[in-house]
Amino acid sequence: MTDRLSDSVWAFCEPSLIQRESYDLVVVGAGLAGLRAAVDAARTGIRVLLLARGQLCSGASFYPFTDGLGCQLPENDADAQVFLQEVVQAGSGVAGEELYRVQISQIRREIDRLSELGLEPYFIQGRAACFAPRERTICAWNGWDEARRRLSKNLTDYPNLTVLTNADAVRLLTHNGSICGLVALDSQNNRLLLQTPAVILACGGVCGLYRHNLNPADVTGSAASLALSAGARLVNTEFLQFIPGLTEPVYKMLFCEISLWHCNSVTDAEGRPLLQDALPKGLSVEECLRQRSMHAPFTCSDDSRWFDLAMLRGIRSGGDTGCSLRFDAAFGTDTNEFMASARALYLQNGIDLTRQSIRIAPFAHCANGGVLINADGATSVPGLYCAGEAAGGIHGADRHGGVATAAALVFGARSAAAACLYAEQADRFCPTAETAAEQLTSLLQPTRTADCSEPPLRAMPLRKALGNALWLKANVLRRGDELSDLLCQIHTWRQSYSPIADARAGTPLRKALETAQALITAEAMVLAMNTRTESRGGHYREDHPFTDPAWQGIRLELFLRGDKLQIEKIPQPK
Ligand SMILES: Cc1cc2nc3c(=O)[nH]c(=O)nc-3n(C[C@H](O)[C@H](O)[C@H](O)COP(=O)(O)OP(=O)(O)OC[C@H]3O[C@@H](n4cnc5c(N)ncnc54)[C@H](O)[C@@H]3O)c2cc1C
Repeated sequence: MTDRLSDSVWAFCEPSLIQRESYDLVVVGAGLAGLRAAVDAARTGIRVLLLARGQLCSGASFYPFTDGLGCQLPENDADAQVFLQEVVQAGSGVAGEELYRVQISQIRREIDRLSELGLEPYFIQGRAACFAPRERTICAWNGWDEARRRLSKNLTDYPNLTVLTNADAVRLLTHNGSICGLVALDSQNNRLLLQTPAVILACGGVCGLYRHNLNPADVTGSAASLALSAGARLVNTEFLQFIPGLTEPVYKMLFCEISLWHCNSVTDAEGRPLLQDALPKGLSVEECLRQRSMHAPFTCSDDSRWFDLAMLRGIRSGGDTGCSLRFDAAFGTDTNEFMASARALYLQNGIDLTRQSIRIAPFAHCANGGVLINADGATSVPGLYCAGEAAGGIHGADRHGGVATAAALVFGARSAAAACLYAEQADRFCPTAETAAEQLTSLLQPTRTADCSEPPLRAMPLRKALGNALWLKANVLRRGDELSDLLCQIHTWRQSYSPIADARAGTPLRKALETAQALITAEAMVLAMNTRTESRGGHYREDHPFTDPAWQGIRLELFLRGDKLQIEKIPQPK
């Protein structure tokens, strides 16, 4: 067997470097979904490892620059039906009705259990969530440091739960098509060979791959590459949410769209009005801004789209930091409760909108698609489960505000229940260093022999180039020719990049492996964006600007055959 593996792969799996541990379940990720799953699984008494790149309470669930997260709740049983119709409608023919039905029926139970995760919810009313046609109660929570402290205390109740932070899941291991383990790297670069019959991937979405994103740095689309390499499928990866974020004066702060009510000037980098010439005949600037103030994420399904499209066109023609907005004095005195909280958030960040301008650009915010799951959070690979933003098949082309947190909590809980049952009766296979080496080969070993004249690819410039290219070409404005070029470029990078060689040249090993994973995930996303030749929800194609009835109910699923990504059009399940 060793003959078929290169020295570099063996060097990675060298037995003296490998630490072996055995668990009944490994949960990857310590955001809302991973925490919910780990606590529920630990309660059953099985041996659980919670492994996360970030700290306890990390990921998008604990993004520092926000005043908290919210979850939309059905008011009662009758409203649950209406709510279901509405979220399915927003999904525009590609959402998972059954998964949404389960999610809506279980969300109140999960809210009642939030204190187990150290979170203290409160309830607010007064404004419909993004894309929701009516107002509902929103359950909200904040206070990340306090939550972390309370959760750490709660976790001492579970001696069977091991928490390993600052560690990366690198590769899932399978035996006869079922999960048998996981290779991970800890903070000291120790290779951990973890034997486990079941894994829950809760490692968040893909938006961290973009140059400008509203995610913390520990979220880099790992789940998609881990799952693909183990044989699972992705779905709806072309649908991402882009939200305007501040580029100046406070980089990465969320823009409060309600403030557009008082916006009196939108200009490009040269100070020229951005919208006047960008709007179709009959649409006024005021109406475009009014529609844009109703939801944070970009959608092409209403006239607000011209705002984001103009912004990105301006960026492409040289206005790197986005467009400049100015506001009138009434912003300072508006008594609307939501305006007051937007004002407070800006002021907390040292920004007085009545006196100063801000610059904004479309930031990648949240994935609507991901690893295809069923109502138990199970993927098509026995023993592999997925929850939270990493999972796909629930949300569709547009997603209501306050249903991503619900998905993380509900499918975190459901995947834990199903994975614990599975782990109880699953056969155990002990992966060897050879199993690990064989299965790591596709990640570690470039398939393309580099031309001697080409400088070897290094993670930092590669990630910068990838992030920039995604941000410019796979943002709110997409075009087939550009996506095809980008796809080709990412594929070449994926074939040529050697994380081991890069690590030998000085790149931290974990960063090098994260980069190899990022390339697989990015290629899958761009392939889906290029294949969907229409515009729908958050996916806008300048070369196919209309929603095409021929695509209604068609979802794009991706999987790996050997090293090659495959894509299939699948009619949506009823
Ligand atoms: C600013 C902001 C505001 C939002 N507001 C709302 C809202 O109000 N309502 C709503 O419904 N949704 C909201 N969302 C979306 C929602 O918060 C997320 O979809 C959800 O919290 C994701 O939770 P998660 O547990 O799936 O992933 P995350 O919280 O992103 O956690 C991912 C975890 O995986 C770990 N990880 C990543 N890769 C690896 C790896 N290779 N190995 C080991 N660990 C890894 C990370 O360290 C982290 O612990 C918001 C998102 C953002 C960014």
